Amino acid sequence: MSILLGCIADDFTGATDLAGMLVQGGMRTVQIIGVPDGPLPPSIDADAVVIALKSRTSPAQDAVTDSLAALSWLRAAGCRQIYFKYCSTFDSTDQGNIGPVIDALMKALNTSFTIACPAFPENGRTIFKGYLFVGDMLLEESGMRQHPLTPMTDSNLVRVLQRQTTSRVGLIDHLSIAAGAPAIRDRIEQMKIEGLRIAVVDATSNDDLMQISQACANLPLLTAGSGVALGLPQNFRAQGLLAQHDAATQLPPTPGLRAIVCGSCSQATQAQLADLATKGVPSYAIDPLQLTGSTNALNDAVAAAMAWAAPLLAQGPVAVYATASASRVKVVQEALGTERAGRLVETALASVAQQLVALGVRQLIVAGGETSGAVVTALKISSLRIGPQIDPGVPWTVSLNDTPISLALKSGNFGSIDFFSKAWSLLP
Ligand code: ADP
Repeated sequence: MSILLGCIADDFTGATDLAGMLVQGGMRTVQIIGVPDGPLPPSIDADAVVIALKSRTSPAQDAVTDSLAALSWLRAAGCRQIYFKYCSTFDSTDQGNIGPVIDALMKALNTSFTIACPAFPENGRTIFKGYLFVGDMLLEESGMRQHPLTPMTDSNLVRVLQRQTTSRVGLIDHLSIAAGAPAIRDRIEQMKIEGLRIAVVDATSNDDLMQISQACANLPLLTAGSGVALGLPQNFRAQGLLAQHDAATQLPPTPGLRAIVCGSCSQATQAQLADLATKGVPSYAIDPLQLTGSTNALNDAVAAAMAWAAPLLAQGPVAVYATASASRVKVVQEALGTERAGRLVETALASVAQQLVALGVRQLIVAGGETSGAVVTALKISSLRIGPQIDPGVPWTVSLNDTPISLALKSGNFGSIDFFSKAWSLLP
């Protein structure tokens, strides 16, 4: 059977979040990093594919080009419905990239109507009368106002999106949503007659999301955060297209050694590492200041970490980290420059991950969004099968390489304090 749902995500961890949502709904889902050169091997069964791009903050024209390339691949794979996934805080500027990408996808799909709904009520993102709330605050009052790349200073999504697109943008408000899927469908038909092309959609609960998904079952293109995906498996099931896959979350076992690599300095990761220490898991700190100074400094530091790790691995998981307190990070950044420090640490940790895998590690947890990107690239991983959720937004995955590796890629602030031990407990 061909792939039912094709998704284009504008960043890596957002793609994983969406893929995890689909898996929970019973769709076998594969995440691909970038647009692949050829089709998926026939041995890989997937009901949904999520292509992870890095297009959220690239120049709008690049985001459009990449998204259209992803669309071509997904259409060639036979996908029946396309889903453009962006952040639940609608991260964008007046130049895009959400509006320009929606316009380009609509044109390529020859469709005259779609929705825009970043709501994710379980994570506190709700939309009422077109205004996006983050927890109890309007978007423009939340931390997103100070975002370095996409500061969000207007909470009204109809206005925000209208500034990014030549398509006319309207609103399907909570009254239509509360009246259920048939009323939403009627509203869509009415909007089409009025010449509107994109509808921002109110949603304050999972039930709202289910009604929206149901009403949009036949739209060729959906654009949303991961929330709207909640109802999609049910749509495909109702159409007789999706078999009951109780095994959607089951991953093949990857027997081997276990390790943790941490490049996130978030408070959550600091607490999770401290919890690990109380449980007696051996851990090794990489000092960023030791990564520079001589040509071989980085390689020497990696070699020292590996000399420490190698004899311990057979006894159980080990952790190698650069994680440090905010004040310590500041010292490092002042000495090396923020970007350079980040790059050096990412390079060192990616090299550690590579060497751990060479020593037989097949179950690896990586903490940090950028760190995860560096590790996945170093391990030459181009696609992942998504499995069971460890904590919201962080599933176990298995790389679809010749030597499969179980990977949990945790973005900074995600996960409960016992995340690491919880993650191990889910593996056979
Ligand atoms: P998060 O998901 O928490 O944002 P990331 O991996 O995306 O984590 O980003 C953390 C960044 O901080 C990375 O670029 C990493 O290399 C860098 N970093 C990690 N430890 C240190 C440190 N001790 N000093 C300076 N930078 C660090």
